[in-house]
Amino acid sequence: MSRITGRNFLFVPGPTNLPDRVLRAMNVAMEDHRSSRFPDLTKSLFEDLKKVFKTETGQIFIFPSSGTGAWEAAITNTLSPGDKVLTFRFGQFSHLWAEMMLRLGLDPDIVDVEWGEGVPPDVVESRLRADREGKIKAVVVCHNETATGVTSDIEAVRQAMDAAKHPAMLFVDTVSSLASIDFRMDEWQADCVVSGSQKGLMLPAGLGILGVSQKALAARTEAKMKRCYFDLDDMMKSNPTGYFPYTPALPLLSGLRESLNIIFEEGLEDIFARHSRLAQGVREAVIQGWKLRLCAKESKWWSDTVSAVVVPEGINGAHVIDVAFRRYNLALGAGLSKVAGKVFRIGHLGDLNELMLLGALAGAEMAMRDVGIEIEPGSGVAAAQEYWRRTDPIPKKRVSRQEVVYASHSVGSLEGEKGQ
Ligand code: PLP
Repeated sequence: MSRITGRNFLFVPGPTNLPDRVLRAMNVAMEDHRSSRFPDLTKSLFEDLKKVFKTETGQIFIFPSSGTGAWEAAITNTLSPGDKVLTFRFGQFSHLWAEMMLRLGLDPDIVDVEWGEGVPPDVVESRLRADREGKIKAVVVCHNETATGVTSDIEAVRQAMDAAKHPAMLFVDTVSSLASIDFRMDEWQADCVVSGSQKGLMLPAGLGILGVSQKALAARTEAKMKRCYFDLDDMMKSNPTGYFPYTPALPLLSGLRESLNIIFEEGLEDIFARHSRLAQGVREAVIQGWKLRLCAKESKWWSDTVSAVVVPEGINGAHVIDVAFRRYNLALGAGLSKVAGKVFRIGHLGDLNELMLLGALAGAEMAMRDVGIEIEPGSGVAAAQEYWRRTDPIPKKRVSRQEVVYASHSVGSLEGEKGQ
């Protein structure tokens, strides 16, 4: 049997690459999660996650689940069967959340938007204005639609809600944006903010993380939806003392401590800037280099965490992904549902840099050429490089000429540096 050597290049939009520090932090013996020492770890996690969500007034909940569990927790803790909610469907994840609302017995008003676009704030405003009796209990939106590589403007959604003077709560899915694209829970008055561990937080899948505003916590007392495992009340009884109502995902919590350390060392704003710059390099590769287009219809929708690349007519995107994986050990994201076969996705979030992305772009080029897409070899790699070279914000400290000379001598002197 043939063996794939070297590293797997993981460029799906989550799970993302784990920093070695996080891996090491999770390699721990199990401990007693009811010990007097355990809260030292957990209390700091709740506090520090608030900084990532940009909330001072909200409360953070950590479930041993994936993002989907946090979707369910948001709905079941704040709403009642038959409640009307307004939501927008423009990709597989906004679709799945809407499906969940139906399955749980809500009455969602699902506005279908073309895949490749995001939440239209004007429609938010007009629908809320038309709801004179205030029946809509929540506006539910996906910040970053991972299936199409579309980011919606949540600040504009909030402004639309304010303009309509509607009291509905605002629920936001930040599974593929938190800690990668700016999100401001308090400033944008988001009431339930859903996320997961396996993307911007650079952890394995396994934690569903939910930020809840005081307004949504208050709604909980009226909410009649059945809930048990995801009941916030149980969490609220034990979390303040640093404990959980059931066995928490211990290694993931240790990993989360380390990933938060890493996030604060780099700084949230610098993380957003890095994601934006890396994403633009990928877009240069797709548009300028390969002469292909993105699923996101306009630049205002471009996502800084994932790019969905539309393959030419007659080519199956799944073929590109399969060849990339089998021949080059490169994992690209599949096209999902409506865009299955039409796109492949490059995830560019989490712990990554230019050279890692250049590897992914090179692998995507090779796979695309293998399946018959006529692109110039090296064109994407060159376009990304050029963009990153032109916009390099990295060397905060310039290397002095003296240091360069020293370095060149120590490796046996470089051509042109001799005698200097
Ligand atoms: N929402 C978005 C935007 C996602 O990208 C995903 C998963 O990729 C989910 C929700 C579902 O999260 P999970 O797979 O962690 O349950």
